[in-house]
Amino acid sequence: MQTTVQKASRKAVILLSGGLDSATVLALAREAGYVCHCISFDYGQRHRVELEAARRVASALGAAGHVIVPVGLDVLGGSALTADIAVPKGRSAARMGADIPVTYVPARNTVFLSLALGYAEVLGARDIFIGANALDYSGYPDCRAEYLEAFERLANLATKAGVEGSPFTLHAPLLRMSKAEIIKEGLRLRVDYSMTRSCYDPDEQGHACGQCDSCVLRQKGFTEAGVG
Ligand code: ZN
Repeated sequence: MQTTVQKASRKAVILLSGGLDSATVLALAREAGYVCHCISFDYGQRHRVELEAARRVASALGAAGHVIVPVGLDVLGGSALTADIAVPKGRSAARMGADIPVTYVPARNTVFLSLALGYAEVLGARDIFIGANALDYSGYPDCRAEYLEAFERLANLATKAGVEGSPFTLHAPLLRMSKAEIIKEGLRLRVDYSMTRSCYDPDEQGHACGQCDSCVLRQKGFTEAGVG
């Protein structure tokens, strides 16, 4: 697993949600010379408006391709993002870090990374980029370095490419960055964050609620980056 981005000129698969973090990851991968193929997931999320943002971001940042894969995680439910469970509002950063929140989607990154892995194998890409971040107070177990390292090992055991000696590398360049550091990197790379959507619970017109953990962390990040 790599948390820094080295120069390359080959295909990569980028997990793109339409949010701030994954837009920054796409910009970093492009800067490093990768030919970027984006993958997004229509997983029954209440903030489905993020998929429109993902389309805009992929186009604006010069992605070579973009697929949106339907995955009905709302059939399983079990999360405030995919079931009729209230999204927490108005929480402090300390409160957010106290436990794994109800916005955790069971096994989401394992499902998403598995599909990204399949897409990479089909494309002949050996590099997969994810905007996982271990410092954003979320406490999501599938955003930790140990998890990502384990998934990379799994990827190389589970695939024809891996077994035949052409291993995959999982890149998580934001893993140890603060939200403010991520935003500064994105601004350096001229990411237009007005195109991105972070809110877990937008209204029917797609307007951010301003109160969910994701909105609070986004605003805190812009403030700390000096652009809020
Ligand atoms: Zn919100």
